Amino acid sequence: MSNSPAQPSNNPHSGRTALVTGSTSGIGLAIARAFAEQGANIVLNGFGDTNEIEQNRAAIEQDFGVKALYNGANMLNPDEIEAMVKEAVETFGSVDIVVNNAGIQHVSPIDEFPVDKWDAIIAINLSSAFHTIRAALPGMKQKGWGRIINTASAHALVASPYKSAYVAAKHGIAGLTKTAALEVAEQGITVNAIAPGYVWTPLVERQIPDTMKARGLSEEEVKRDILLAAQPTKEFVTVDQVAQLALYLASDAASAITGTTMSIDGGWTAK
Ligand code: NAD
Repeated sequence: MSNSPAQPSNNPHSGRTALVTGSTSGIGLAIARAFAEQGANIVLNGFGDTNEIEQNRAAIEQDFGVKALYNGANMLNPDEIEAMVKEAVETFGSVDIVVNNAGIQHVSPIDEFPVDKWDAIIAINLSSAFHTIRAALPGMKQKGWGRIINTASAHALVASPYKSAYVAAKHGIAGLTKTAALEVAEQGITVNAIAPGYVWTPLVERQIPDTMKARGLSEEEVKRDILLAAQPTKEFVTVDQVAQLALYLASDAASAITGTTMSIDGGWTAK
C-alpha cells in the first residue's frame, strides 16, 4: 500500500443521485450540470420544449459520463412529485441530494393579485419542497447521508412590494429549511437554503414587463433602478456562482452547516 496521502476525488458524488426540480433552465440547469460534473447521476425536472430538454439531458450524459433521467412532474401536484422520487430511486437506487429549485413569479399589488397565481406560487415555490423532502427523507435516513438544498431568494429575508406570494413562499422556505434541518440533524443529513439576489435568468427577464406596468417604468429603468438598485455590486449574480454554492453545501466540508439560509446577493441584504 502506498503511504502517499489520499487524493481528494474529482467525483465526490460518484454513485450518488442528485434530483433538481426546475432544472430545465436557469439556476436549476446550472446546478444539475455542476453535480453531474462531480459524478452524480441526475434527475432533471421542469417544463419547456421537448427537444431542448432532451438536448440538455443528453449533454449532461455526454459531457460528464453520468446518467441523466428527465421526469416532467408538475410541482403543483404532490402525487407527481412522489412518483418522480420513486422513479429516481427505481432507476438509480437512491436519491441522495435534493435541490428544490422550481419557482415562478408574479408581480402585482395585493388587491389586484390573482388568487390562482397566489395558490400556484405557494404550491410551486413552497409546498413542492415539502413534498420532495417528505418523499426523499426515508431513503436518506436509511443511508445516514443526505443533502437537501432549497433555492430560496433574498426575498426569504427581506420583502419588495408587489411580490406578496413570492416573498411569503420564500420566507416559508427558510422556515421549512430550519425545521427539516432540526429533525434530521443527527442523521448525516443537512438542509440548507441558498438566497440569491438577482440572477440573470428567464425568470428575471419575464418579470420585467409586469414590473414596467406596475411601476410605469421603461425596461432600462426597471433593470437599473429596480433590479440592480437593490444590489450594491450593481452586477447580476451568475447561475454558475449559485451552482458552486450548492456544491459547497453538498460537500463534506459543509457537514456542520445546516438549517441556514445563505445569501449570495451582491450585498443586497446587508443594507
Ligand atoms: P427559470 O424560470 O429559468 O427556471 C424555473 C424552473 O422551474 C424551470 O425549469 C421551469 O420549467 C420550472 N418550473 C416552473 N413551474 C414548474 C412546475 N409547475 N413544475 C415543475 N417545474 C416548474 O428561473 P430561475 O431564475 O432559474 O429560478 C430558479 C429558482 O431560483 C426559483 O426558485 C427562483 O425563485 C429562484 N431565484 C431566482 C432568482 C433570479 O434572480 N433569477 C433570484 C432568487 C431566487
